[in-house]
Amino acid sequence: MNELRFDTKALHGKPKKKDVHNSIRYPVYAGVAFDYKTAQQMEDAFNHRKPSHTYSRITNPTVELFEQTLCLLENGFAGIALSSGMAAITNTLLALLTGKDNVIASKYLFGNTLSLLKETLKGFGVEARFVDVNDQSALESAIDENTRMIFCETITNPQMRVSDFSIVSKIAKRHDLIVVVDSSVTTPFLFDAKKHGANIVVHSTTKYISGGATSVGGAIIDLGNYDWTNNRALKKYHDLEAFAFIARLRKEVYRNFGSCMSPQAACLQTLGLETLSLRIKKSCNNAIKIAQFLENSSKIKKVNYPGLTSSEYYDLSIEQFNGLAGGIISFELAGRKEAFKFIDVLNLIRRATNINDNKSLIIHPASTIFADFSLEEKEDMEVTQGLIRLSVGIEDPRDLMEDIDRALISLT
Ligand SMILES: *Cc1c(COP(=O)(O)O)cnc(C)c1O
Repeated sequence: MNELRFDTKALHGKPKKKDVHNSIRYPVYAGVAFDYKTAQQMEDAFNHRKPSHTYSRITNPTVELFEQTLCLLENGFAGIALSSGMAAITNTLLALLTGKDNVIASKYLFGNTLSLLKETLKGFGVEARFVDVNDQSALESAIDENTRMIFCETITNPQMRVSDFSIVSKIAKRHDLIVVVDSSVTTPFLFDAKKHGANIVVHSTTKYISGGATSVGGAIIDLGNYDWTNNRALKKYHDLEAFAFIARLRKEVYRNFGSCMSPQAACLQTLGLETLSLRIKKSCNNAIKIAQFLENSSKIKKVNYPGLTSSEYYDLSIEQFNGLAGGIISFELAGRKEAFKFIDVLNLIRRATNINDNKSLIIHPASTIFADFSLEEKEDMEVTQGLIRLSVGIEDPRDLMEDIDRALISLT
């Protein structure tokens, strides 16, 4: 049979995973432990001679189906599902870095990732150096002999900047650095991480993948294209070669931190994968219409959406993201007062902090998700007082535009 296409793989997986009753919807194995006939079989399982499920914090059949399907969609080598996107990022960094290492990170990051790198990991000796990853000379000059990785997001929010992976992967190769990309807002449907030179993809599957904010979840996919014998944090696992990173997670970091995904969440997440492309296409098609509509309003100072032909990221986003530019838009009103008024007048669009839900959601980032950062830090990250982030759902776009139009008219 030919290699299956994205939508077919999202539905059927490969190989087909069957439950004992041939249920077409793979069941939720809500149990914790698995029974063995003999002590010998138990020994074989615990020593990885005959892989099987032992305990649901380490592996679980329902969670494994989600891991394998997502890994297939990323063309990955191996994948692990976790309790959240933050767990995926934390586990990846802790498995690959020692206390003497530094990581080059984009200065435009999800707020909690930024806080993890700036505050939490600093306590463990890991240094983060923040740069604009599209600035080749800034990247080069931040690298030294203790640099291990470059970490960035595909499309940042609320800035809506697109990372240029031709630059990131070129510099990473030159210095033998691991490229870790957070592709939560793009998913494998929009962004082929392997083709663009990433080595590890992390996801907050809470976003697009969950199928409409059904559950919190995360994933790590090893794309199988980095030589782990070069990494000192994986020293104990070097003889496992290609498996070194996944083995350190499964046998140590992920297991010991206890950051597993629940089987109930995994079932919802697998269901989300089945309709991923349908929902992303609708949300991106809505987003471009709304971005164009916003761009034509005199009350809006600036619209940030990489799918607009006026965006400096237009060509890059076409090249990297399968012709679509994601479901998130940000735009600038005169100031905080106008932003609050605009948000308060909306009827249909919900005031909430999530992104890539089926429902459209709006937020004022400076006063909410970036509230813990100082004014200077916010300015440096382009999180201004007039900035609004809109995550576009899959509603009828005419209803969304009517809601937005009413809010704009209210700003006399
Ligand atoms: C939401 C988000 C995260 C964190 O994911 P959780 O599932 O909420 O832990 C990380 N990165 C990006 C880009 C996100 O949008």
